[in-house]
Amino acid sequence: MTTTVPGIPAARGASATLGPAELLHRLRARSADPAGISPVKHVEQVPARPGRPVPWPDWAAPPVVAALAGRGIVEPWEHQVSAAELARAGSHVVLATGTASGKSMAYQLPALTALVEDPRATVLYLSPTKALAADQLRALVRLGVDGVRPATYDGDTPREEREWIRQHSRFVLTNPDMLHHALLPGHARWGAFLRRLRYVVIDECHTYRGVFGSHVAHVLRRLRRVAARYGSEPTFILASATSGDPAEAAGRLTGLPVRAVTEDASPRGATTFALWEPPLLPPELDDLAAELPRVRRSALSETADLLTDAVVAGTRTLAFVRSRRGAEVVATMTRRALDEAVPGLGARVAAYRAGYLKEDRRAIERALLTGDLLALASTNALELGVDLVGLDAVLICGYPGTRASLWQQAGRAGRAGGEALAVLVARDDPLDTYLVHHPEALFGRPVEATVLDPTNPYVLGPQLCCAAAEAPLTKTDLDLFGGAPALAAVQALTESGALRRRPSGWYWTHRGRPDVDLRGTGGAPVSVVESATGRLLGTVDQGSSHAMLHTGAVYLHQGVSYLVDNLDLADAVALVHAAEPDWSTHARDVTDLSVVSIREYVDAGPVGLFLGEVDVTNQVVSYQRRRIGSGEVIDTRPLDLPPRELRTVAVWFTLSPNLLARSGVEPPDVPGALHAAEHAAIGLLPLMATCDRWDIGGLSTANHQDTEAPTVFVYDGHPGGAGFAERAYGTAAAWLRATREAISSCGCETGCPSCVQSPKCGNGNNPLDKRGAVKVLDAVLAALPTHPAGTETGPALAAADA
Ligand SMILES: [Zn+2]
Ligand SMILES: [Zn+2]
Repeated sequence: MTTTVPGIPAARGASATLGPAELLHRLRARSADPAGISPVKHVEQVPARPGRPVPWPDWAAPPVVAALAGRGIVEPWEHQVSAAELARAGSHVVLATGTASGKSMAYQLPALTALVEDPRATVLYLSPTKALAADQLRALVRLGVDGVRPATYDGDTPREEREWIRQHSRFVLTNPDMLHHALLPGHARWGAFLRRLRYVVIDECHTYRGVFGSHVAHVLRRLRRVAARYGSEPTFILASATSGDPAEAAGRLTGLPVRAVTEDASPRGATTFALWEPPLLPPELDDLAAELPRVRRSALSETADLLTDAVVAGTRTLAFVRSRRGAEVVATMTRRALDEAVPGLGARVAAYRAGYLKEDRRAIERALLTGDLLALASTNALELGVDLVGLDAVLICGYPGTRASLWQQAGRAGRAGGEALAVLVARDDPLDTYLVHHPEALFGRPVEATVLDPTNPYVLGPQLCCAAAEAPLTKTDLDLFGGAPALAAVQALTESGALRRRPSGWYWTHRGRPDVDLRGTGGAPVSVVESATGRLLGTVDQGSSHAMLHTGAVYLHQGVSYLVDNLDLADAVALVHAAEPDWSTHARDVTDLSVVSIREYVDAGPVGLFLGEVDVTNQVVSYQRRRIGSGEVIDTRPLDLPPRELRTVAVWFTLSPNLLARSGVEPPDVPGALHAAEHAAIGLLPLMATCDRWDIGGLSTANHQDTEAPTVFVYDGHPGGAGFAERAYGTAAAWLRATREAISSCGCETGCPSCVQSPKCGNGNNPLDKRGAVKVLDAVLAALPTHPAGTETGPALAAADA
């Protein structure tokens, strides 16, 4: 039977299937670089891995084993049992393995066994999204272990069901926001549940990063404190995507010693993984005359070409594109190219995105399975629980930000037991450039760590108020919340009248509960509202709102683009309407920075490396509209926004003017050299910590009033800091070395978006001196000890030194 999809003719015969090596060969053969440089920078053969099954542990309750076996699990994988054994023995444990490695079972086994053994024991499960909690609930219901009565407890739970859940459910699935707003403040009503709390499961714990992660860290400490009041000390089981040092991150999050299990023992098919850098475009005569930097072919055009070739070769291919508009562009370009080659062939390519009706999506999925469709260009809507299997190849247009997402997307390729091809197509961006030239950073041990900072005073103070409102704070409690910084915060709160000291502890003095938002610091987040429907699309923290939501900005939400009609700062609302203009917007700003205090420093002679508090004043003053594709500037429009003050944490380095001169950076070139180094350093920080460019800011100057030296600052974009600058300081040598490599390995002459240009530069990328930046970084690296803060350098990067 043939499935018909509107506009898609039926398949003409079965598609020939090429092996990944042959397919890659064809793709490479057709790509035409004028200089004859291969776009393939690296090919990694990720070998097939046989699974390592182990027997069920003897302590596993028979009804639980029977239920899991009933779901088709004959034997667990080794990592599942390793994590389960630790949890069973009362060790807090984090399981950090790949997607689809069966992390759920690792917590289900000990948790459900405990519920079977003790008919009154309870388990609390936290997930970052309602959708994931609903998914886990379905899995638990299907397992059908008697007497567990699993239930989700979130904002959508009807009031009349809540009482029943508190009294009878023994496996409650909720989220940190609900824990913070409902469960902890109302702990008296949860007494019976908390008294018997055996396990706390924290799923997808790598998503708790930055300011949000710092808040969640305190919510978990509040949970531990309240549970202890009812006499329980639950064991924490955390599940994480693979990341650098998961034990350390989980320890910071929970405040407990956590053991990590990281050896993935689930089976996987072999994948050929190619790293692809689009060629530089031949220079235009006009550009040569104007000495404009050469640019690369856009990742979108390159992906469309590769997709075209893959379809011609008859392989089923999926291209991941970051925005919905980008996905549509790739699909359209591919269709056009195919129709030119073979009229009608273009109809076997479709775009796929969130927002399609369920029936349309199902029809597309079926068409892909039957071979009626050969290729899809998709946003990451596919990650949202759609099951597409049996693809021959996956093209990833632009690094998706974290290794976890990269592997998740690459994992879509591969028929059962078969081989697959994955290609990462680099965008014009320093991080993408670095990665395609340094495969060890992708395929070696991961270095990016989930960072958060529970000592952030803007998080700590409000959280201590919440804790005090739940039960008076004692001296002993303060150790739980971080010791000395917590004591200082409590004293400040007592002086300001928020808390009152009595012999039995510190009390919350107000009637209502403290109003604390987990998703930000410093002011209410700005709501993004669709004018026509009044629908709330999402929120943006105040700090980013000026640059992202100014009137006239193009705002992307889940791959859909909107135009901002009005940003109302007083009401913290941005009104938008859906629109797909053919331009993007880029805010311009002016920044001033002063050093408040120095926390730590490394004195390396003519070079200094510092971590400390700074005050940043930033004002978004105008924005540019640029044509999508060509990047041509259409116009620059002024904005009338107030300056924003930010006290935060920064890392900075200084060099003596003498050292700069000795390194061959002449005084007139110093500003451009420092500025270029700053941009690239910001672009590469996501290699060390899970953040993106928008979480961090920078400032460089040939002579700063506080350091009295040429200085490059990189600061956390969130009040009080979110851990990014601290991580940058701790890994400074590896971070700056990667930055230097990213710049020097870029084939451009004078700097391009792949190395030193920044899409969010407040100065329009001027001045920038690419070669000067390499000299600056060489001078800094030569002076710095390899382990500046005595912590670590990424092992993968250390390998890159050789
Ligand atoms: Zn470049
Ligand atoms: Zn800049």
